[in-house]
Amino acid sequence: MATRHHPFRISPRARRTRAAVLLSACALALAGCGSSGAPDGAAATVPGIVDASLFDPAGLAAPVTEEDCTLSSGKIATCLRIQLKGAPADHDVGPFCPRTVTDPTGGIWFKDGSLYDLDGPFVKGLSSLYDDPAWKLYDETTGAVRVTDTRESCLAAARPDVDPAYENYCVECSLDDVGDGGGIVRTLLIPRRPEPRATPAAVAGVSAVGAAFNGVAFDLPAPVGAIIAHHTIAALDDCGGHVNFVVGYHYHAATGCSREIGTGDGHAAQIGYAIDGHAMHATADAHGAPPTDLDACLGHRDAVRGYHYHVAGPGENRFIGCLQGEIASGGGGEGLPPGGGGSTPCAAGQTSACCGDGTCDGPESAADCAADCR
Ligand SMILES: [Zn+2]
Ligand SMILES: [Zn+2]
Repeated sequence: MATRHHPFRISPRARRTRAAVLLSACALALAGCGSSGAPDGAAATVPGIVDASLFDPAGLAAPVTEEDCTLSSGKIATCLRIQLKGAPADHDVGPFCPRTVTDPTGGIWFKDGSLYDLDGPFVKGLSSLYDDPAWKLYDETTGAVRVTDTRESCLAAARPDVDPAYENYCVECSLDDVGDGGGIVRTLLIPRRPEPRATPAAVAGVSAVGAAFNGVAFDLPAPVGAIIAHHTIAALDDCGGHVNFVVGYHYHAATGCSREIGTGDGHAAQIGYAIDGHAMHATADAHGAPPTDLDACLGHRDAVRGYHYHVAGPGENRFIGCLQGEIASGGGGEGLPPGGGGSTPCAAGQTSACCGDGTCDGPESAADCAADCR
């Protein structure tokens, strides 16, 4: 294989901004977002209770508010309405695609649990990596990488049925082109106090897996199968994020860029909250090792923090394995069809997005639910 494999040690240092963002394989229409803001309903720093003060205010479109909500169990609870700005408060966006087959600059890509530097040589080696000679993201004569560097090309390449003209492209586009220019606000409704589920639920039916403290959503797994089927690469930047026209900038990997809240006891830092209100911590603790007692959801419990998750390694195209807590109905936030809510019940073990069309792990398309395609 002509590609270089890097076990995930991506510099958390933000790199130069090219104000470029990526558009994944499907991204069409679908609701905007929004919601009104009101003064913060202060959350106490108590284990097991969501602490809104941990979010960087610069990453929020409005102060966090509290409201009554109905959980997936039917129980009435208190939820926090968190409006993520959709542009990271603490790092630049991009770069994504290299410009030539020798360009050392680019983002990252993942395959089968491994993370790769998305540089020029990686692009050149794609046919070997995927054992498919149809991969050719570059001009053989000039060595120039084909990149969707205009709004129009991003839109065309981002269609679920990728415009044939944009097959064999490295897909990225400018953050300036989405939302009002600079991002799309993402509203999440998260139970203030996590409510344990009787049995774990699949991470599906939600428009986001969780919220990072810097104003970016941790998203559902990218539909890698659909992306590579069209010989496209939906490039991630070194921070594990990219952009589409449905939800703006979002993460598919946690590489250590976003705001971390240290635990003070050597335990892995907290990086955000999951959609069920449980804390999300970094993969590894101060010694560089992930906990050894994680359950299938990638969570465990300790006396200090209660139940919490440790996110998967950045090559895994997922953050957690399943949900141990109830989620708010309708709490998936924007990106879901009207009335689709956040609680479409997919069985544990199913991994595909499912957002109200009744299809779990089935063939998803923009026709049945565009929001499934990220
Ligand atoms: Zn832990
Ligand atoms: Zn994506």
